[in-house]
Amino acid sequence: MADSGNEVLTDGFHLVIDALKLNDINTIYNVPGIPITDLGRFMQAEGMRVLSFRHEQHAGYAAAIAGFLTKKPGICMTVSAPGFLNGLTALAHATTNCFPMILMSGSSEREIVDLQQGDYEEMDQLAIAKPLCKAAYRILHAEDIGIGIARAIRAAVSGRPGGVYLDVPAKLLGQTMNAEAGANSLVKVIDAAPRQIPAPEAVKRAIDVLKGAKRPLIILGKGAAYAQADDAIRAIVEKSGIPYLPMSMAKGLLPDTHPQSAGPARSLVLKESDTVMMIGARLNWLLSHGKGKSWGDQPKKFVHIDIEPKEMDSNVEIAAPVVGDIGSCVEALLDAMGDDWKAPPKDWTDAVYAKKDANIERMAPRLQNNNVPMDYHGALGALRTIIAERPDSILVNEGANTLDFARSIIDMHKPRKRLDVGTWGVMGIGMGQAIAAAVETGHPVLAVEGDSAFGFSGMEIETICRYNLPVCVVVFNNGGIYRGTDVNPTGGADVAPTVFVKDARYDKMMEAFGGLGFNATSPDELKRAVNEAMDSGKPALVNAVINPEAGTESGRIGNLNPQSVVAKK
Ligand code: ADP
Ligand code: MG
Repeated sequence: MADSGNEVLTDGFHLVIDALKLNDINTIYNVPGIPITDLGRFMQAEGMRVLSFRHEQHAGYAAAIAGFLTKKPGICMTVSAPGFLNGLTALAHATTNCFPMILMSGSSEREIVDLQQGDYEEMDQLAIAKPLCKAAYRILHAEDIGIGIARAIRAAVSGRPGGVYLDVPAKLLGQTMNAEAGANSLVKVIDAAPRQIPAPEAVKRAIDVLKGAKRPLIILGKGAAYAQADDAIRAIVEKSGIPYLPMSMAKGLLPDTHPQSAGPARSLVLKESDTVMMIGARLNWLLSHGKGKSWGDQPKKFVHIDIEPKEMDSNVEIAAPVVGDIGSCVEALLDAMGDDWKAPPKDWTDAVYAKKDANIERMAPRLQNNNVPMDYHGALGALRTIIAERPDSILVNEGANTLDFARSIIDMHKPRKRLDVGTWGVMGIGMGQAIAAAVETGHPVLAVEGDSAFGFSGMEIETICRYNLPVCVVVFNNGGIYRGTDVNPTGGADVAPTVFVKDARYDKMMEAFGGLGFNATSPDELKRAVNEAMDSGKPALVNAVINPEAGTESGRIGNLNPQSVVAKK
């Protein structure tokens, strides 16, 4: 506030800050620069936590996952044009994954941009953002900051959550207005994500479908994890007696060791089930669109719980759509199940759990191997024990083989402890997610990263060290993308397109910024290093030397690669 003559003034900078704080938004993920540098400084001065990144994409991934973890929009703040574009990938990612996030970007002079007269970092950011997010707004007048921010918050978190773009022209920040009028213009968003109660007839229809099931299955998705209706979800799984399959970020909603988990019998339950209740999961590519070979010949009936009505029948017919928020829907279903609910036929559940036990038994010895160089099973077997002993830790996971193996090998024990590549299977989320997870929850983070995946966000380990966050990064270093063994068929000097520097020491990067570095060549060494790192609570990086021959092309989704008719050389 400034005093001009008799009038007390405020400005755009401070109205943005006051509007965010009024709505309990106190953390900003940003990269400073024109025109938002001072905004970040003023935010910090006003008691907000302002975390500066080295690249906007990682600030954006941090904001997106903060939204997932807290049900409040994570805020990413960037400079104009190039900074905005760098953040845009994360905004689109947030929208695709149904995470609430606001990308707030500074922008150049409207009048010059619209006449295309070549301003500093000229770009029509609003138009470019629009197709990639749930809503996009621009604020032109200081007196509209309150309503503009309120609108952005509500758009991000209500209904199906998603990304919102908020355009903040440089000129807006410097605009002044009467301080009292400014304070009165702020808007506190009441009930930002109102409950959405399902229709009673939809609930009854769902119960009837479930009652008719001989081989029922429940699939939990990351929407169920987001909803934070953990007790109700556990109650419906247990009361129904139905085996359940968690999608990767829904792992731990019930502990993976739960007797009703069908995770290790995934192929069988997808093929053989006759009725599937989806809770906050989509029938997209990750579930083969609900049809085809992996779903078997058995005709299926689907019950689908989702907040987004358009999601129903998106891929296959839904016998019982239940539209509403997951907490309300699951509670209504629990109610309607009554006191005389019958468990599913025993021959079905016996078959599922027999298959699961057999698969677990088959896997067990491989997870205990102490091979040097390490394979995925030996290395992940060690990390699996560490997560079991530290169930509050958050696991961040990306890569190809590193992702696919870790998802099935590492059991999760509590809700929202596994963060990963999400709906797109995108590489580069690692350090952004690790930072936000540590900042938002205060819990230690273990980031298990393929060497290629780590490269997308590796510079952010400086950010991790700067804020002294309890993040232990483990780089699964097999010297390449998928594998480290490809050769250039021409015999030329360049290595093959999928190959990196041999025997790289990623741990030295962490040491460069004052963190702890470890090199681990066996599962025992890996276990010791990670335990020491996590006990220290300091930033650490473990270079885990993996056999370059251990991976497979594209991990488990090699089938998505097109095939050439011309033979490979
Ligand atoms: P997964 O990849 O784990 O299968 P998806 O991201 O595909 O999960 O699906 C999540 C679904 O959850 C989306 O369709 C989204 O609309 C829905 N969703 C998110 N939050 C809620 C909520 N609070 N209540 C109901 N549905 C929700
Ligand atoms: Mg690799």
